[in-house]
Amino acid sequence: MGPEVVPVQCDEVLPGRADVVVAGGGIAGVCTALYLAERGVDVVLCEKGHIACEQSSRNWGWVRQMGRDPRELPLIVESLRLWRNMNSQVDGDTGFRQCGIAYLAETEADLERHEEYLTHAQPFQIGSRRISADEVAALFPTARRAFAGALYTASDGRAEPQQAVPAMARGARAAGAKLFTRCAVRGFETAAGAIHAVVTEKGVIRCDALVVAGGAWSRLLMRRHGVAFPQIKVFSTAFRTQPLPNGPEVSASGAISGAGFAFRKRADGGYTITEGGVAVIPIVPDSFSLMLDFWPVMRAQYGQVRLRLGREFLDELLRAKRWPLDAPGPFEAVRVLDPVPRARTVTTGLANIARVFPEFEGVKVAQSWAGAIDFTPDLVPVISAVGAVPGLHLIAGFSGHGFGIGPGAGYLMADIVMGRPPLVDAQPYCLTRFD
Ligand SMILES: Cc1cc2nc3c(=O)[nH]c(=O)nc-3n(C[C@H](O)[C@H](O)[C@H](O)COP(=O)(O)OP(=O)(O)OC[C@H]3O[C@@H](n4cnc5c(N)ncnc54)[C@H](O)[C@@H]3O)c2cc1C
Repeated sequence: MGPEVVPVQCDEVLPGRADVVVAGGGIAGVCTALYLAERGVDVVLCEKGHIACEQSSRNWGWVRQMGRDPRELPLIVESLRLWRNMNSQVDGDTGFRQCGIAYLAETEADLERHEEYLTHAQPFQIGSRRISADEVAALFPTARRAFAGALYTASDGRAEPQQAVPAMARGARAAGAKLFTRCAVRGFETAAGAIHAVVTEKGVIRCDALVVAGGAWSRLLMRRHGVAFPQIKVFSTAFRTQPLPNGPEVSASGAISGAGFAFRKRADGGYTITEGGVAVIPIVPDSFSLMLDFWPVMRAQYGQVRLRLGREFLDELLRAKRWPLDAPGPFEAVRVLDPVPRARTVTTGLANIARVFPEFEGVKVAQSWAGAIDFTPDLVPVISAVGAVPGLHLIAGFSGHGFGIGPGAGYLMADIVMGRPPLVDAQPYCLTRFD
């Protein structure tokens, strides 16, 4: 079971018509709906489970510019700007705090690996910098060992995943968006080649545009309609502790990664922890057809991923690739994708962190969970119109860092749908780069 998510009151009577339908109630879909509704667009969001039931409530809660791919830097800078104003914008509490994030470095060589990022980030004035061994020691006075230094970004932040997207969803609804849960989008209908209607399990909505924001399910929905989207799922485990008085912090409350652990201080006084970067790739039929696309990134991540042949292979083999739109399909069959957490991540992550910070010795694990992260071959999301089908749009493939960039991505998607000047250059996020 995933973490408990703050419930969101939704709508009940499905309208027969809307300007735009959004499929998926994670941060990407909710932010798209929020920024469309705010600009007066009649938007309906349909979520097969409940709001933020998959990745968007299971993540670590880091809102991070540091270490980003250069193609994502302009968007994450804008996204941070939106996060800072989000509570007042949606009149709710996302738990966002600007808290600083530190990557602890064991060796000088570890620090040097960040040089390329520092060069790319420099024009954006994010404030990322190398800090010395002494500064690290001053930031973490209880650490049992010395570090060579750290990469540190004081302007980075964190938010509370189980409350942030629900708060944004309530804000979207207040701005006029209609939200429906347990309402899977089965597919769409076209007229003269363009989006004409979206078929949901609760009925048909005629509309001019569909935004697919289905996270790890996006490839399946696109493929139903003949649109190729290279995307794989990677299972990642995290866990939280009971409240821990006097635990380590960076300024007010921080997020830190070191060798074999990563953690964030939570608003409830506990910590969300993981072993740091270790993830499981389930072998599924798609693994073979996508092997060439993903080979370079798999090779680069060697050592951090574990391949696993399990139940998912059979599940996906037996899952229909095409299904009629007038009967329940694969999205209704799995309301919430809830992978089994990897027990070793919990024991190893906790042992690793306690080796450095004595405060974690003997601390109780309150809950562990896993999420299915959706990866693209170049680890950059798609935020794009789909040229082959006028009116169809895709926002997915955040490759493990979509929580921080979600508000910016949703804003950009709303710009694209409305044909407005984009928040940032959208070219790096177009779907055609995979053609
Ligand atoms: C363990 C873990 C740690 C992470 N840590 C961080 C972090 O610290 N910082 C960060 O920036 N990112 C992090 N991420 C990544 C981040 O959570 C995701 O990139 C982001 O939440 C993706 O949002 P999304 O809206 O695209 O997808 P999701 O949140 O997965 O939402 C997609 C939604 O679409 C729904 N859906 C799918 N198909 C349909 C359909 N046909 N009809 C209706 N609904 C449908 C699903 O039910 C789901 O709710 C982490 C992820 C995990 C799993």
